[in-house]
Amino acid sequence: MTEQSITYEGSCHCGAVRFRFSGQPITEAMRCNCSICRRKNAIMSREYYPPDRFELLCGVDALSTYRFAPHMVSHYFCKHCGIYPFHDPVEKAEQGYRVNLGCVDEIDPHELPLRVFDGRDSWRYLN
Ligand SMILES: [Zn+2]
Repeated sequence: MTEQSITYEGSCHCGAVRFRFSGQPITEAMRCNCSICRRKNAIMSREYYPPDRFELLCGVDALSTYRFAPHMVSHYFCKHCGIYPFHDPVEKAEQGYRVNLGCVDEIDPHELPLRVFDGRDSWRYLN
């Protein structure tokens, strides 16, 4: 990692799930219009955080997983409070985790510039 690397921590709402990740300072966010993202309405990290920069601190037993075809992604959510803290692509596990920025301590996702990803159709950013 470069010297700019920052470590962030986050949690679900009830605190059963807590996680830590590191990477470049978060200066942008994204949302997506695919069938699940538009229902979750989450503001997410632009980056994926690979397994060596992502650590689940607690809550392995509290996490449940939702998957649907054709994009095999593990959409994790807390069994207790229902919050989605992160997801990862099943077939590209090395890519790591995209994070729900609303779960990250000391980040206000509504203050970040927002990129919109067209996960419904073109699979590209719209802005
Ligand atoms: Zn929870």
